[in-house]
Amino acid sequence: MRKEHWALLSLALNIFQALIKLVGGLLTGSLSLIGDAVHSLSDALASLIAFLSIKFSEVKNERFPYGLYKLENIGAIVISFFLLFTAWEIANRALKGEIEINYEYLPVGIGITVVSLVSSLTLSFLERRAGKKLNSPTLIADSYHTLTDAFSSFLVLVSLASYYFGVNIERYVALAIALVITFTALQLLKEQVGAILDISADKETIEKIKKIILSFPEVSEVKRLLVRSAGGKLFIDAVITINTDDFVKSHRIADEIEKRITEEIPNVEMVFIHYEPCCVREKTSVAILTNDGKVARTFSDTKSILIFKEGEGNPVVVKMEGKSEECIAKELVRQGVDIVISGYHPKSNRAKWILHKSKVFVWETEKENPYEALAEVSQIKEKVS
Ligand SMILES: [Zn+2]
Repeated sequence: MRKEHWALLSLALNIFQALIKLVGGLLTGSLSLIGDAVHSLSDALASLIAFLSIKFSEVKNERFPYGLYKLENIGAIVISFFLLFTAWEIANRALKGEIEINYEYLPVGIGITVVSLVSSLTLSFLERRAGKKLNSPTLIADSYHTLTDAFSSFLVLVSLASYYFGVNIERYVALAIALVITFTALQLLKEQVGAILDISADKETIEKIKKIILSFPEVSEVKRLLVRSAGGKLFIDAVITINTDDFVKSHRIADEIEKRITEEIPNVEMVFIHYEPCCVREKTSVAILTNDGKVARTFSDTKSILIFKEGEGNPVVVKMEGKSEECIAKELVRQGVDIVISGYHPKSNRAKWILHKSKVFVWETEKENPYEALAEVSQIKEKVS
């Protein structure tokens, strides 16, 4: 069985338990059983939201370019508040209200509780076994949650059975159930707030990613590695040094690293590898796309190109106002440019292809000042010589 199948099974069991517990709770009048029904219902809602969010995370558009993956977090936060409210309500009734138990239906209530207890224990056991086999922390965590559910069914069972011995501990058990619900809610809230605030991935995952990157013999250093976890997905941002003077080759290695990370680490949504070649060809000619004296954000923004040839003082300026991306790419090739500095790569595939074919490397920069951007590139050159 795959992970999604376990999630579906857990969802089905929680819906089933919520229904029978609610029926049992209403028939017997047991507050603890009703509380337990609400808990099962919230578990079902949480897994339903997690399930739907997988679908919604694929909905990407201009306004939500990363997809709506955080809907899951918002949904779970709403559920945790609903749980806190329920816990409060149950505790209130347990402390103040009179609890009338309908003895006629007591065996039904006990039967339902036993079924819930046994099914939760079984699911928890199976989930943990599968979690270890599939190496899934989520599944193992879920197995512990299911164990909590079994524990709360056990408490209800003790309460209902105690009536046969003439003891009434319903009030206290209902309070204990309220505590279990509060605990579940706080746990959920803690996780979700962390995810919304872009908590870092665990150390183990980060080490694993680092190992993958360094397993490439061409990579000499991982200068920065940030991994944030949001909505159950990982966003990886790495700056590495690649031991080659060939920009096309560096680009290919970076692509391969991205592919390997996506294959070996689960739930990776985005990998961004920024690479710095450790050495640059001699006699390089660097071009900067500019717009009103600033580095152009995109190829199509370009008004003029400044071309710096090594060993020559002043840059050559080529006017390019209103020209297409392809036209700019052709001009760069014609001028024998090795590196072109711009905010981003060109959007046009044809322009990309023209540059790629002639091994013109596009250096993306965030700098606005052309000379600062040029210094970024020169720094790399100096490191080598
Ligand atoms: Zn639960």
